[in-house]
Amino acid sequence: MTVEIPETMERIVLAARPVGSPKASDFRLETVPMPVPGEGEFLARTIWLSLDPYMRGRMDESKSYAAAVEIGAPMEGGCVGEVIASNNPKFKVGDFVDDRFGWQSHAVSNGQGVRKLDPSAAPLSTAVGVLGMPGITAYVGLNTHGRPKTGETLVVGAATGAVGSLVGQLAKAQGLRVVGVAGGADKCAYAVEELGFDICLDHRAAENPKALRKQMASACPDGVDIYFENVAGKTLEAVFPLINVHGRIPVCGMIAWYNAGALGADAGEGPNIMPKFWRTILVNRLSVTGFIITDHYDQFPTFVQEVGGLIRDGKITYKESISEGLASAPEAFMKLLEGGNFGKQLVAVSADPTR
Ligand code: NDP
Repeated sequence: MTVEIPETMERIVLAARPVGSPKASDFRLETVPMPVPGEGEFLARTIWLSLDPYMRGRMDESKSYAAAVEIGAPMEGGCVGEVIASNNPKFKVGDFVDDRFGWQSHAVSNGQGVRKLDPSAAPLSTAVGVLGMPGITAYVGLNTHGRPKTGETLVVGAATGAVGSLVGQLAKAQGLRVVGVAGGADKCAYAVEELGFDICLDHRAAENPKALRKQMASACPDGVDIYFENVAGKTLEAVFPLINVHGRIPVCGMIAWYNAGALGADAGEGPNIMPKFWRTILVNRLSVTGFIITDHYDQFPTFVQEVGGLIRDGKITYKESISEGLASAPEAFMKLLEGGNFGKQLVAVSADPTR
């Protein structure tokens, strides 16, 4: 099979390091010559680009678990693509793949670490969503670090998002009481009616942190055994006083503070809460476990088999928020950081022939 290959491709590069919330001028759309795959390489066109909160961290220079994107370099990102030219015997034209092509319409790969996808097993877009990186984050964070037990209470923020929606559903399937926290009445209704959560609190409607604390206390009459930390901010403040003895806090993300940089929103201000915080960890014998999902990719096959089966059986559902065209990625990403997405945020970069 041969495919006509355009002479140019598009990409979005980091134009400037954001100060606080990213703005449109921090990104630049460029048209560049189409790369030619060398020996052992293939060329793919991007179908789906995944937008994820971690990308905000890559825009900063501060020390982290991964290097920052250089100014002028394409933004990083996981993608689903179709091979359109290949000099690699393991990948043929027409194969669908999951790779880190970045915010680009096309990319060359040597095939290392690339997952081949079977579109008859699951829709292609799920490879960067519920059956991809965010999905395994929920699965490992809950099971390995949360260690759930029937009858316990779990709280999760960003409850209708890519990670939170699966955390809550998997916890419900294991017999836990699940309390979600989400932004807006529609998201909260979806969490209860479609995802099956017991209750969902609207953090944007709570007029102050105290109000959310009060709602959280009445939503968790037996305290909280697992706080799946996705957001931090006032959700963390509301949950922390309710954590039970031997409680677990898988620390997955803290999106409320991402735009504040590595030191957090309140660095250098306000009372020092560290002694009280540290003492609670000791007195309540808490397990607070930070984790980065790429350390756990050995669990990918088990995860895909288990969660893929639950989706096929209709026991797990998922939602996608799709923005059209590569040029829409910066706007969609800026909205994601503010809760403008409803479900897994994707960019439809080019046609998905399997839809
Ligand atoms: P989501 O699809 O959940 O999208 C982000 C959501 O965060 C928004 O929709 C919004 O939901 C919520 N949010 C934004 N600002 C705030 C705020 N100030 N307070 C509370 N909620 C806020 O994203 P993901 O599911 O992809 O990611 C969820 C978390 O998991 C992130 O922190 C991410 O960094 C982390 N993560 C960590 C990984 C790891 O390896 N440790 C891997 C993957 C993700 P709403 O409108 O409901 O407020």
